Amino acid sequence: MSPPRKSQIVPEVPFDKDGVHCGFLRLFHSVHRSAYGFIPIPIAVFRNGTGPTVLLTGGNHGDEYEGQIALANLVRSLDHTRISGRVIILPMLNFPAAMAGTRTSPIDEGNLNRSFPGDPDGTVTQQIAWFVANELIPLADATVDLHSGGSSLMYIPSALARRQADPDRAALSLRLLKAFAAPVAYLTAGGQGTGHGGTLSGAAATHGVVSLGSELGGSGTLTPAALRIAERGLRNVLVELGILPPEDRVPAEASTRILEVRGAQDFVYAAESGVYEPLVELGDTVKAGQPAARIHTPETPWREPATAQFLGDGFVLCKRVPGRTMRGDCLFHLGTDTGL
Ligand code: ZN
Repeated sequence: MSPPRKSQIVPEVPFDKDGVHCGFLRLFHSVHRSAYGFIPIPIAVFRNGTGPTVLLTGGNHGDEYEGQIALANLVRSLDHTRISGRVIILPMLNFPAAMAGTRTSPIDEGNLNRSFPGDPDGTVTQQIAWFVANELIPLADATVDLHSGGSSLMYIPSALARRQADPDRAALSLRLLKAFAAPVAYLTAGGQGTGHGGTLSGAAATHGVVSLGSELGGSGTLTPAALRIAERGLRNVLVELGILPPEDRVPAEASTRILEVRGAQDFVYAAESGVYEPLVELGDTVKAGQPAARIHTPETPWREPATAQFLGDGFVLCKRVPGRTMRGDCLFHLGTDTGL
């Protein structure tokens, strides 16, 4: 029998000692300019006594910024003497991608959130995925992985979670979604039919760990409003898990509207390449068959534009940002009300 596979990443911080421990995960990467060097993935571990563990990650995609900033702010502001349990924070999980401001890694083109459960002997991105899946998630009672739409998409600020078959995990997911207090939250089917496999949340599900996600904004930038939602959401999730005391809860102006994203029928794709003209806006309510976008070909101005339609009724959660569009690009996706 072959020995169990082991991560080659070396953490500089302890996970089992009280106090605040800041440092790096050392991902050794031998290159022309640095023969024995490592990629320094920042990590902070806060621990105080007994209690639950939460794993908080941002920069899984490097062009999504709310999570990176909100988690860096949390590292500098969290008082470890107020917590019961452990908070593990990685603001720039795919560090090479985050430093480049790109969705995927400039080293291996790896999309970290399609790379789980990873490979301890694989590329840089696969090694990060393996470490998270096999060394960090097993320590956690819950994970929060902060995303936004990146460079190509814009979202209504949302929290999200996978639908859970287990009733206890389903109840905890719903509690965390509501505690996060984004204007909108949605449940997903785990990426069936939409190519969203290999995610951190999928790795958490494999270990029976509840995972919360977010889609806070996008367009390759961040807004003050989305950052406030992220920071409030993080605090309130720590309170909901019992890691911070109840008086630390940050009040929200409104309750969260809970939607679901069922699968391919909620997505609209470009059927042609060209210039995309959206016909609806974020937050609109739309009907099946309603035109969603026109795709123009101004290089052949006498040709009629192609029209993309919504396949079902729903609420417009997400839209494409760049005007130039290729066949197969996602233009919109919807959510539908759950009554939860
Ligand atoms: Zn993302």
